[in-house]
Amino acid sequence: TPHRPYNFSAGPAVLPEEVLRQAAEEMLDWHGSGMSVMEMSHRGKEFISIYEDAERTVRALLQVPSNFRILFMQGGGLGENAIVPMNLSRGGLVDVVVTGSWSQKSLKEAGKYADARAAASNEADGHHSLPAAAGWQLREGAAYLHICSNETIHGVEYPELPDLAALGSTAPLVMDASSHILSRPIDWSRVGALFAGAQKNIGPAGVTLVFVREDLLDRALPICPSAFNYKLVAENQSMFNTPPTYGIYIAGLVFQWIARQGGVPEMERRAIERATLVYNALDHSGGFYRNPVAPAARSRMNIPFFLADESLNDAFLAGAREAGLLQLKGHKSVGGMRASLYNAMPLAGAQALVDYLQDFARRHG
Ligand code: PMP
Repeated sequence: TPHRPYNFSAGPAVLPEEVLRQAAEEMLDWHGSGMSVMEMSHRGKEFISIYEDAERTVRALLQVPSNFRILFMQGGGLGENAIVPMNLSRGGLVDVVVTGSWSQKSLKEAGKYADARAAASNEADGHHSLPAAAGWQLREGAAYLHICSNETIHGVEYPELPDLAALGSTAPLVMDASSHILSRPIDWSRVGALFAGAQKNIGPAGVTLVFVREDLLDRALPICPSAFNYKLVAENQSMFNTPPTYGIYIAGLVFQWIARQGGVPEMERRAIERATLVYNALDHSGGFYRNPVAPAARSRMNIPFFLADESLNDAFLAGAREAGLLQLKGHKSVGGMRASLYNAMPLAGAQALVDYLQDFARRHG
């Protein structure tokens, strides 16, 4: 049967086709309500049921403990770079582990609200590895430590979350998990707060998921906008102001789709399978392609790679488009190529990419 082209965008990114079809079917009349989800009051019983179902499903998928609140917010990952320090820093010390562009931006933005400092950085090696936790410079009394658990541009992912208590720190861990949430289980015993923009593994851009431990809800700076105050948003079930209703609806459909597939463990199994295929093809290309990331730090979701002969880049991308492989161009800040393999990417998509990589190398090698 014919299939849609495979879409390797880093985000906004591919969504499960089943979800797109269901949304199309329900577009004009959601469940006999006579309304599109876009046309519903966020306070009506129809939307409240959509919201509650989305919240319940994602809580179950990620096994989120009952002392964590789940907020559906707006502002994206970069919005959270300001919202987090306004809610959690108390204007004090914020430590950040810099592993790529996204944590670098978090460090810079936190500096507007707090005394923010890099606890460690992999800048010297081009953001291609993870600084060993034992060497992190954690300041006593820090309000929190921020990490980006998957660097979307540099393709660096933490294989496991740092255990700050074991490092002698009492600071809560704050994570930007935008580009790999729902692709692996989360050890909540190590987390204080976690945020994720929706447009990779959750749904359309415009929704930001925030998970925050209840004991951290009460420390916002007075300047924090009310609509971004975690406590107010939590007390109002994410409806302090009008939430991004349509995005929450699609996110809920994606959560249900993940549950039907076998949940987060199955997403993780598939992620490993897809990523292994692609890394193997790059590593065994005889130097035709190269992924520069240290193997232990390689992302399962975002695989940046370079052609040894960069004069072939345009031909590579044009041929890929012709083969039905879309949006493989690398981020402008690093160049080259990038294959993002999110939850909704079928194994056949990763296989089609590998076939194309090998075919292109044969023709141009
Ligand atoms: N953090 C990470 C890890 C990201 O990948 C992105 C987007 N690519 C952002 C933050 C920024 O998200 P937004 O554009 O939604 O603010």
